Amino acid sequence: MGRPSPLEIYALLDKSNCKDCGRDTCMAFATDLLERKVVVQDCTHLMQDPKQAKKRDKLIVLASPPQKSVLVGVGDRQCIIGGEEVLNRHQLTYYNETAIFMEIADDDPDLEKTAKYLTDLAIERMGEALIVNGITLRCVSGDVDQFKLAAKKLTEVSTLPVMLACLNLDILLAAAAEIKDYKPLLYAATKDSWEQVGKFAVQNNLPIVAVSNDLDELMSLSASLQKLGAKEIVLDAMTIFGPGNLALTYDNILQLRIAAIDKEDANASFPIMGLPAAYWSQVKIDDGKKLWEHQYQEIIMAAIMESIDTSLIVLHSGKEEEDIWVLLAIMTLRQSVFSDPRIYPTADPGLYEIGEPTKESAIFVTSNYRLTKIPVEIDIKGANLNAYLLVVDSEGIGIESAVAGGQFSAGAIAEAVKEFGAFEKVNHRILIIPGMAARLSGALEDEADAYVVVGPRDSSGIAKYMKELWKPEEFMKIYEDLKE
Ligand code: SF4
Repeated sequence: MGRPSPLEIYALLDKSNCKDCGRDTCMAFATDLLERKVVVQDCTHLMQDPKQAKKRDKLIVLASPPQKSVLVGVGDRQCIIGGEEVLNRHQLTYYNETAIFMEIADDDPDLEKTAKYLTDLAIERMGEALIVNGITLRCVSGDVDQFKLAAKKLTEVSTLPVMLACLNLDILLAAAAEIKDYKPLLYAATKDSWEQVGKFAVQNNLPIVAVSNDLDELMSLSASLQKLGAKEIVLDAMTIFGPGNLALTYDNILQLRIAAIDKEDANASFPIMGLPAAYWSQVKIDDGKKLWEHQYQEIIMAAIMESIDTSLIVLHSGKEEEDIWVLLAIMTLRQSVFSDPRIYPTADPGLYEIGEPTKESAIFVTSNYRLTKIPVEIDIKGANLNAYLLVVDSEGIGIESAVAGGQFSAGAIAEAVKEFGAFEKVNHRILIIPGMAARLSGALEDEADAYVVVGPRDSSGIAKYMKELWKPEEFMKIYEDLKE
């Protein structure tokens, strides 16, 4: 079917431009629907007018991505997985990053402590909080009461979505009944258990994982579950370690994605999960290797899965504070893979306070390219300075290119100085511009009525620069002498 155009969407809308959806026109709604900023249900006309039911149903189909999305959990931390439209990010963008679920055993004495730690974990990087998305509770005890109790405890101490992982049908369904209001993901429907697990999932509106290492069998499981009425299915073609198996695991995930997105195969049209945590149950651990050598194997698999847009991965390593490197690596990679290639990462222009600036504090100037603004901010903080950071609208372009292209110009900086009242905050008229913008200094002195000093080319040099070269009284004396 391919991605519809805004005009195809518009053709199915009411065209009254009533603004009830918060958009000025139906055409704006059509564009936002394509960008997933609104849903079909936001158009009150289509939803409320019975005569438009056919158009509404057609629009829902037209606006649905070839890979459906699945919701796990409830509340603020509810997680959306899948829902992709393209095989490769450069063809459009990926909408939902790989969800990271951390595995905890139901007999783990530190279950509550670990769950709390994972819930609160947030690593700030480039203006975004990197977080884990859920917890996979693995049934290790084989005891129904233990598994139920552990599931309940998780929902009490954590707001993270839960995947219940147990291949014993009775134990799985007992725990699922206990926490069904939290919308857990049920793992798993196999060729033996699909009917009972599927019926329970449909009755309780829960998402379910279909699992088989045979792709034909997996497609047949998906078809059978859909016949039962299951709408939220996740596919697991199984993660297998050992010689040659990495390629097999990779290939299975890619085949499923191609079947969903390129071939629009209804049975493959669901998110895909991977289980790097399976390493620990498949490989002999006491082989003389160090712990981190084993962890590397799991993390390499996780990295490969993220790079091919696997919708959800389950990790065993990384849930202890001392293993934070695992999550740091995997979440940093995820941030890169899932950034939107159509959007320059920008920061809002403005005058930012760093620390507790006073009238004597320095004013640093930078562009609003996010990957420039944030490192500069970090380096000023790292130098223990109380300062102002004037972020100029350079259309999201970095300093060097924006100076060349004219977006970071003396005029633009002078305008920002005025707009954000930079000189009203301090008792001087000194601006520190980046070394890469040195050639703007003369023109900027005229346009902003300022004394301009050229800072280091790289913000990592700010601490040294301020220690050795920041002489505001001298600078102001020169400024005043020049004015006379
Ligand atoms: S609510 Fe529907 S009819 Fe009204 S402007 Fe939005 S899209 Fe158009």
